[in-house]
Amino acid sequence: MLNKTRLLTPGPTPLPEQVRLALARDMLHHRKNEFATIMHRVQARLRILFGTEGTVLPLSCSGTGAMTAAVHCLFHPGEKVLVVEAGKFGQRWGEIAKSRGLDVATLSAPWGQAIQPKAVEDALKSDPAIAGVLVQLSETSTGVLHPVREIAACTRKRSQLLVVDGISAVGLSPCPMDEWGIDCLLTGSQKGLMLPPGLALLALSERAWKKAADVPPGCFYFNLIKERVNVEKGQTLFTSPVNLILGLDESLSMLLENGLEAVYAKQWALTMLTRTGITALGLRLFTPQNFAWGITSALLPDGMNGVQLLRLAMEKYGIVMAGGQDHLKGRIVRIGHMGWVDWADVTAGLYALNRSLAELGGYSGARDYLEQALAAYTTALNGVPGQMPLLTHS
Ligand SMILES: *Cc1c(COP(=O)(O)O)cnc(C)c1O
Repeated sequence: MLNKTRLLTPGPTPLPEQVRLALARDMLHHRKNEFATIMHRVQARLRILFGTEGTVLPLSCSGTGAMTAAVHCLFHPGEKVLVVEAGKFGQRWGEIAKSRGLDVATLSAPWGQAIQPKAVEDALKSDPAIAGVLVQLSETSTGVLHPVREIAACTRKRSQLLVVDGISAVGLSPCPMDEWGIDCLLTGSQKGLMLPPGLALLALSERAWKKAADVPPGCFYFNLIKERVNVEKGQTLFTSPVNLILGLDESLSMLLENGLEAVYAKQWALTMLTRTGITALGLRLFTPQNFAWGITSALLPDGMNGVQLLRLAMEKYGIVMAGGQDHLKGRIVRIGHMGWVDWADVTAGLYALNRSLAELGGYSGARDYLEQALAAYTTALNGVPGQMPLLTHS
């Protein structure tokens, strides 16, 4: 009763009231006109969100389902793909590809770093058997932003398809699919889109649709070709996730209200707030460069028990943050600033972090960190749009 629970996690994220009310509506029938009208409106908005003229398919599954659908619909078993791996979700691309019987070549970067676009280009040039590149835009396990724009500049001139997991990036930082030349862009509902988990969205380029037409269906449930036929009628292949679509209609209307640029500007400002706050707390940023706009990771002081720290922040201050995975468990904290999160939530998170660090000992506590963080936020938000980097790679 003392605290509100605040989710500063990289999914699920908090939901706006408008979205929660839309989710609470009674059923519509998914094959009748009223629902089709909503589907068509949602489709027009999704194309703006994805920056594509193509069809964006809503799929009833979590984000990993859309990753699975992409791999199964775009590649023949035995075909070779290049997986960019610099964290947990890069590894997942490799696992999914192997489960489809693909030949997986892995291009790795240390966790916390982005892949060099040149390394991708060299790999493609040296191995003509590679049929596609699988990458994350934002690698959520570390908080890194991979140089998808630069990778696309290379793949679009070649025959390889570029498949991008934008699950923790779409609606958070720019990723105009058609303009950059991405062949498959996918996301999930519970990260940047201010929705509950359970809905994924996926779009293909023209040449990816051609390839999909050539690949025999890899599984019964994910059939993107049939899915597109239905979406064009305002339906989905199987029973639609009616409430999630109603919620999506509402969240897209919020996201597009002042244009996507305004959404990205807010995310950029929240990123500046968090990064400045982390540094002012005396912690080291885990991603010094090429950082995502929806999540910030910080290294904890040596000897600090990160698991205990997160438990304290949650139980005493109501702030839920994420820790590290695998070898980073207990060593980093990941602060999500995505979904329905604003400056006040992140400020509360920084306060809880400062207090919890001090209470666990060996850390004297910072001063003025909130002032510094909020000043960075204001500066970033009021900056001319040109100051917000559209380029993802430095
Ligand atoms: C969250 C996330 C996933 C997994 O999504 P699920 O909805 O849990 O299946 C995959 N990739 C990235 C980059 C993510 O952030």
